[in-house]
Amino acid sequence: MTLDPKRTIAELKELRALTADANGAQRVAWTDTWLKAREWFAQKLSGLPVEHHYDAARNNWATLPGESEKSLLIGGHLDSVPNGGWLDGSLNVLAGLEILRRINAEFNGRPPVTVRLVDWADEEGARFGRSLLGSSAFAGTASIAADRVRTDRDGVRLEDALRRCGVEIDRFPEATGEQKNAAAYIELHIEQGPVLERMGLPLATVLGTKGVERHAITFHGQEAHSGSTPMNARRDALAAAAKLALEIRTIAGKHPDAVCTVGSVKTFPGIVTAVVGRCEATLDQRDLDPTVLATMFREAREASERFAKEERCTVEWSRIWNIEPIAFDPGLLDLCDEAIREVAQTTHRMPSGPLHDAAEVSRAGIPTVMMFVQSVGGISHNKIEDTREEHLEMAVTAFDRLASKVIAYLR
Ligand SMILES: [Zn+2]
Repeated sequence: MTLDPKRTIAELKELRALTADANGAQRVAWTDTWLKAREWFAQKLSGLPVEHHYDAARNNWATLPGESEKSLLIGGHLDSVPNGGWLDGSLNVLAGLEILRRINAEFNGRPPVTVRLVDWADEEGARFGRSLLGSSAFAGTASIAADRVRTDRDGVRLEDALRRCGVEIDRFPEATGEQKNAAAYIELHIEQGPVLERMGLPLATVLGTKGVERHAITFHGQEAHSGSTPMNARRDALAAAAKLALEIRTIAGKHPDAVCTVGSVKTFPGIVTAVVGRCEATLDQRDLDPTVLATMFREAREASERFAKEERCTVEWSRIWNIEPIAFDPGLLDLCDEAIREVAQTTHRMPSGPLHDAAEVSRAGIPTVMMFVQSVGGISHNKIEDTREEHLEMAVTAFDRLASKVIAYLR
C-alpha cells in the first residue's frame, strides 16, 4: 500500500460530516462531539497492528512498534474551537494516520524505529481558556492547581468536565511517562495566516513558536466635564492610550516577523460627556527572537511613559501572561526543508505566531519541527477555513517524506 493523500482529504470530509453543523466544526474538547470524533478515529486505527491507549491526560496514542524502541512521534489534535474549521488539528492527525499506514505497509508492520501517532487532548482550550492542556501534561509543564478550578461559560469546573470523560487531573503527571524513548516529534499544520498565500508558496518549514509578552496597561488621568474643561487643561487617559496604540506599529515594524496588538481598550467613565479619567488597554507582543521581544517590551513601556507625561497622566503595567520563544531543532529544520523541496521545489522558513502542541513537546527537550501548508485567505478558527486540495495533497506527501527522513536519521 502506498501513500494516498486523497484518502486523507476524504477522511477529513468524513470527519467534518460527522462533527460539524451549519456553523462549522463542533469538536470542542471534553464534549460528546469530541468523544464521537475520537471513537471514529479509533475505528480508523483498527486495521493497523498498533497498540492504542489514552494516557492520564487523555492524549490518544497509537504506537507501531519498531525494531528499535527509539520513537518518532507524529502529532495533532482532533479538538476544535466552537464553529471551527475542518483542517485545524485534524489535518495533522489524519495525515499522520495515512503515514502510519504507509510505514506499516512498507516495513511489513516492523519499521526500523517505533512510530507513534498522538492526538493531543484539548489543544484549543476553547472551553476553559487553557490551551495545550494535554501536551503540557505530557511535557510536565501543566499548571494543575490553577487549571482545575477554571470554569466554562455554564460554570462547570474543568476538573469536573475531565472527570466526566474519565480523567483525574491529579494524575496528569503520569502522562510524562509517554516521553520515554521519544527521539523526535513532527507536526503538520495549516498556517492559519496569509504569509504563504501572499508568497505564492504551498509549504513552509516552521522555525519555532514566537514568544509572547501580554500585559494590561492602565492610564490614569482626570475625569472632567466635556463642556467646561478647555483642551489644554485636560488629563485625557484615552489620548495617551491612543498614542501608544499607534506607536506599537512603529515598534513592531522594525523587525520583519514581530507583531504587536492592542486588542482591548476600555474607557472610564465611558460616557459621551466626560473626558476619560482612566483607560485600560491590553498589549500582546510576539517574536521568535527573545532579544527582539525584550526590546519591543522595553520600547512600548518607555513610549507609554512618554505619552502619559505628554498628556499629564500616569501609567501602570501588569503582566497578564508570557511565554518564551521556542526554537525548533536545527537538524530537523534541514530535513523539513529537503522534504518540502522534493515536493514543491521551493521552501520557506517562518516562525509561528500561534502556539502549537509542538511548542510543549519541544519544551520537554524532544527534537521537534513543524511544517505549514498554505491557508486560503489566511483564515482559521472559522467555518470558512480552507486549503486548496492540491496543497493538502502536497502537504501529506511532503510530510510523509519528512517522516521517512526522520526515521532514516534516527535509525
Ligand atoms: Zn491547531
